[in-house]
Amino acid sequence: MSDPLALSARIIDSGSDSGERTNRINGELSELAPGIAMVEAFGHVVAFDTGAGLLVFDTSSVRSGGQAVTALRTWRDVPVDTIVFTHGHLDHVGGAAAFLDDAVKRGDPKPRIVAQANVARRMARYDLTNGYNAIINARQFGTTRLTEFRQERFMTGFVRPDFEFEEHAGLRIGGLTVRLRHALGETDDHTWAWVPEHRAICSGDLLTWVFPNAGNPQKVQRYPGEWAAALREMIALEPELLLPAHGLPISGRARIRLVLDEVATALEGLVDEVLRRMNAGERLDAIVAAVKVPESMLQRPWLRPVYDEPEFVVRNTWRLYGGWYDGNPANLKPAPERELAGEVAAMSGGPARLAARAEALSAEGQHRLACHLVEMAALAAPGDGAIQRSRAAVYEARAGTESSLMARGIFLSAATESREAVGEGG
Ligand SMILES: [Zn+2]
Repeated sequence: MSDPLALSARIIDSGSDSGERTNRINGELSELAPGIAMVEAFGHVVAFDTGAGLLVFDTSSVRSGGQAVTALRTWRDVPVDTIVFTHGHLDHVGGAAAFLDDAVKRGDPKPRIVAQANVARRMARYDLTNGYNAIINARQFGTTRLTEFRQERFMTGFVRPDFEFEEHAGLRIGGLTVRLRHALGETDDHTWAWVPEHRAICSGDLLTWVFPNAGNPQKVQRYPGEWAAALREMIALEPELLLPAHGLPISGRARIRLVLDEVATALEGLVDEVLRRMNAGERLDAIVAAVKVPESMLQRPWLRPVYDEPEFVVRNTWRLYGGWYDGNPANLKPAPERELAGEVAAMSGGPARLAARAEALSAEGQHRLACHLVEMAALAAPGDGAIQRSRAAVYEARAGTESSLMARGIFLSAATESREAVGEGG
């Protein structure tokens, strides 16, 4: 496996990844500088040897925490002093139990766990929304066994932080100074860290080498403008080493500035344009259709919309600054969608006609329209097997044209739902 800093330098200097993976989930440890290591996983674990134990950023997921600990132990045989959660997503906090087990096994003191105060609030929210989170994760990651996954529970039993801060915190561990800074961005509980002795930044998920997860359709509010502001604060510190929790680490002030600036610029462009149009009184529908990120930016290896995508960030920006009302008065207190679908189906000659038109539009590449019509057909005649098959086909075709995992996951799960309804699931 190639050196991740050399790989990122080659990609940034050429502006192209030539198809090479930037999110390498291989569980391998690389020493990036004397006393700094990264385990590339989902997500990464970053460790500093402070001279008085290890300082660790994130613990990876439940599934890969143990592997990350094993990798770290090939590098250093000293206690873990402190673990910082960059935020409370499961791929960052889920592996914490493996780190605590390691300390018990070695007879070390329990590592201190540090996080921004909203991490504990998130964990409490996860307990309130366990079923919902199990469902949306099944959808987001596009499982083909929907019913089965819905019965699985989302993670519980989190390892909670024992040192919390709100806006800033400073740590001194061995020979290292660590300045922790709260940021809104992908989440409301993000921490990024500046380690001046190494001119290094641990950026958590504020850089992920894909288009920022600032729109996620199924999850709580994200903060694209504040995200960009955090990236600008990082640039101002002139870091020489950037250690993200996904994707490749980056060395060199100019490379770091280039990447962070482009990501910030993409987010700022969306937020500014949405606000301008909101202030001019446009409807959400018009704004969604009009506001884009230039295609040339989306081709950059750190901005590809393969996970989240700009259209979802537009909606999230509307939700952040406005409300859920989209400006269409019919949507304020709408008729039940099944009743509307029944009316439209009756006018067009029945649900089967709607489904047939949907398939024709799908074949012409008019996927947005096709999905509306097939959804109405299925709502008007939910027990009709032929219509369920049409619905599955239309959403499968749609999924095939989408770049983001989030869109594909939702469309494929709709297809799965219909396949399962006619006994073709799994
Ligand atoms: Zn993550």
